[in-house]
Amino acid sequence: MADSDGSDRYREQVLDLIRRSGVHIRDAEIEQLLLVDFGLGDFEREGVAITDIVHTPALRLKILVLLPGQTLPEHIHPPYDDSPGKEETLRVIYGSVRVYLPGPDTMKEGALPPGKEDFYTLRNENLIQPIGQLTIPPDVWHWFQAGAQGAVCYAFYPQAVESHNRFRDPRVPKHIAPGY
Ligand code: ZN
Repeated sequence: MADSDGSDRYREQVLDLIRRSGVHIRDAEIEQLLLVDFGLGDFEREGVAITDIVHTPALRLKILVLLPGQTLPEHIHPPYDDSPGKEETLRVIYGSVRVYLPGPDTMKEGALPPGKEDFYTLRNENLIQPIGQLTIPPDVWHWFQAGAQGAVCYAFYPQAVESHNRFRDPRVPKHIAPGY
């Protein structure tokens, strides 16, 4: 995202959430903070902010921040080559996250981004509050949405090639690769 589209303001909001969470990160990690809009052009509605804490060939640990009500679009980490695909563990430190997974419709608090209903097929709502955590196995569709306070989470992954991630919304570019 370019700075002219409000990303400075979003960046401040994200840093404020991190401060409130009590999670301490290094200056370099603040500098590397990445605001991802998935090529959809409306960060506040569909997006996520991430910064890596560990990123080696064996492990990826990052801070994942969602603004209040912000949605991380529905996607999957499919198998590729000899890998079963990327496993994803989310631990919520501040605020709350609703994780949507395959299963019965239990949607209560969440709201589909208006006009995007076709790209959000999962309605099984799993509310994660501090310091809850959830592991999403490889090859399982999922999407996230923050509660009213936003959310600050740790996210853990075995290393995987991020370009294999696939999104329900065909407007998300195929090779977007920051990792989520
Ligand atoms: Zn994911």
